Amino acid sequence: MSKVAVIGGGIIGVATAYELAKLGEEVILFEKSYFGSGSTFRCATGIRAQFTDEANIRLMKHSVRRWEGLEEELGFDINFRQTGYLFLATSEEEVKAFKNNIRLQNRFGVPTRLIGMEEAKEIVPILNTEPFLAGAWNPKDGKANPFKTLFAYLFRAREMGVDAREHTEVVALEREGDTIKAVKYRSNGRVESVKVDAVLNAANAWAPLINEMAGLKRDLVPIKAYKHQLVKTEPLEPGQAEPLVCPPSWNDAYIIQDGEDGGIICGAGIEHEARGLNDYEPTYDFLRGVLRYATMIAPPLKYAHIVRQWAGFYAKTPDKNPAIGRLLDNFYIAAGFSGHGFMMAPAVAQAVAELMANGRSRVPLDWEWYDPYRFERGELRSSAFQIG
Ligand code: FAD
Repeated sequence: MSKVAVIGGGIIGVATAYELAKLGEEVILFEKSYFGSGSTFRCATGIRAQFTDEANIRLMKHSVRRWEGLEEELGFDINFRQTGYLFLATSEEEVKAFKNNIRLQNRFGVPTRLIGMEEAKEIVPILNTEPFLAGAWNPKDGKANPFKTLFAYLFRAREMGVDAREHTEVVALEREGDTIKAVKYRSNGRVESVKVDAVLNAANAWAPLINEMAGLKRDLVPIKAYKHQLVKTEPLEPGQAEPLVCPPSWNDAYIIQDGEDGGIICGAGIEHEARGLNDYEPTYDFLRGVLRYATMIAPPLKYAHIVRQWAGFYAKTPDKNPAIGRLLDNFYIAAGFSGHGFMMAPAVAQAVAELMANGRSRVPLDWEWYDPYRFERGELRSSAFQIG
């Protein structure tokens, strides 16, 4: 058994700590604030296998399978529901692109199909069908509650002995050669140190700072934080917009009915690089812009009250694919999820834990595709379609 430090108490760090404990590792998990306080508790809840490249489709196919069994495995309600994702095309060119994507997804067993607007209206009763020509519909995509999911993983991780520490910030890493020997952390104003055999950087938007602590260049994995916001309406009757509905050509705008209270969560690609890693202030520009799109997608939303607006980070790499893999002998990274970390967590956590504990994994994760050194080599993957 070795001692593994996981840095970052978002869904990736917590789920990986759980998977490592399942494999018999001794785990210490550090979160500088409260668990979920980074991007995880600010996300839009969406889970999809509708990607446009083989690596992400295969990873998400596996992740959805893990999501399907997660309530039973963790023994908690996490409100995982397969309510689908519906992408909407506004031009013939887009319909053609949808058909190509669907062919690729079908090849890997993802049951997406092209649907007409009549069927789309049955699935989403408040949909304005007029601007759209067709939809890409996968009923196996879905959503889950990020709060319940993280706490379920955390509970089971602690039960297996994970030493999970909140308000405990990693401040330095001690490196000898290509090995991290110890982690220094601050808690209650005191700095202490713990010897470790391996370290995972799961700090997402903060990951470049952790890499720097490991003596690597800060921009070796060039992750930048983009402020991404959401607004939510008052609760509507269930069944109005259960799937995530998105016309990508409208600035990646989307709506999705919250699986808990029935409010409609509205998002869009109206974003800018964060002004520092505390830039959580919601903006009026976003509110105005996102509601224009949301009411074009679903006109009845004009009459719904907005009850919340919030901001978080999309921690983006240049190709919008995460960096997953080994950086030094015993130093690993799973970060830069670019808006997809919640949905990918069950698969990525399993893969990374298996890699760290056994040197290989059974998860169909294409290590070369997500290689954290690809940016240094000047390689970029085809850009993963960005929305949640
Ligand atoms: P985080 O949750 O950000 O966790 C990283 C943690 O590291 C933080 O809690 C931070 O405090 C901690 N940390 C940093 N530095 C240190 C340190 N020195 N010591 C200790 N701890 C440290 N994804 C989806 O899959 N579906 C969606 O529908 C979706 N919608 C989104 C909507 C919005 C508005 C936003 C902002 C994001 C959305 N995402 C979505 C993205 C998703 O939220 C993230 O990809 C995911 O939560 C990343 O999880 P993580 O654990 O990697 O990072």
